[in-house]
Amino acid sequence: MHALWFALRPCPACRVRATTRDGVCGRCRERWLDANACLAVARSTGPAPEDLIALGAYRGDLGRLVRAAKYRPDRRLLTLIGTALGYRARAAFADPAPACSVVPVPGDRSRLRRRGVDHALIVAAAVATALGPRAVLRPGLRRVRRTRPQARLSDAERRANLHGAIAWRSGALNGTTVLLVDDVLTTGATARACRAALTAAGAGRVVVAVAAQAR
Ligand SMILES: [Zn+2]
Repeated sequence: MHALWFALRPCPACRVRATTRDGVCGRCRERWLDANACLAVARSTGPAPEDLIALGAYRGDLGRLVRAAKYRPDRRLLTLIGTALGYRARAAFADPAPACSVVPVPGDRSRLRRRGVDHALIVAAAVATALGPRAVLRPGLRRVRRTRPQARLSDAERRANLHGAIAWRSGALNGTTVLLVDDVLTTGATARACRAALTAAGAGRVVVAVAAQAR
């Protein structure tokens, strides 16, 4: 019964074919995880613009995949997304990838408790694994005060909401390259607040890596 349900469930990304053990259909899995395809995209777009790496826009197949990963929530899909993002980052960096710290954007504690899953942490762990032994997962950013949910706030309100709300609470960064990982980039207000905290703690280059870009 369980196996039958599993085979009949449509792929969360394309909704066309059936889901495999990986959580998506075989074709979507190949599309997101094929290292050569990632390299081709990186070559066609050149160095990451404004130090931003994304799998694509938050719509269509990728939008559905990210929403399924986020809202079910589904650890397997979050890991698949992180692995794809890690391959993309590896392709975007000069070869070999620099030694870097992979840092997840910190979630709001009460929202994390409610969902029971830290999306950015799971994605970041998979990114670090895909990047190889020179990448180290360092979940050292913390929310140091409560913030309002961002969804209905304007850009200016988001900036005010996050001002001084995020801080680095781990060892010195000593000029290290940081890959800052999140699931969706909307206005970039959260990423900017994280970048400021990382820079204040001594980070060198900060590259933002997100599964999908909303704008
Ligand atoms: Zn599919």
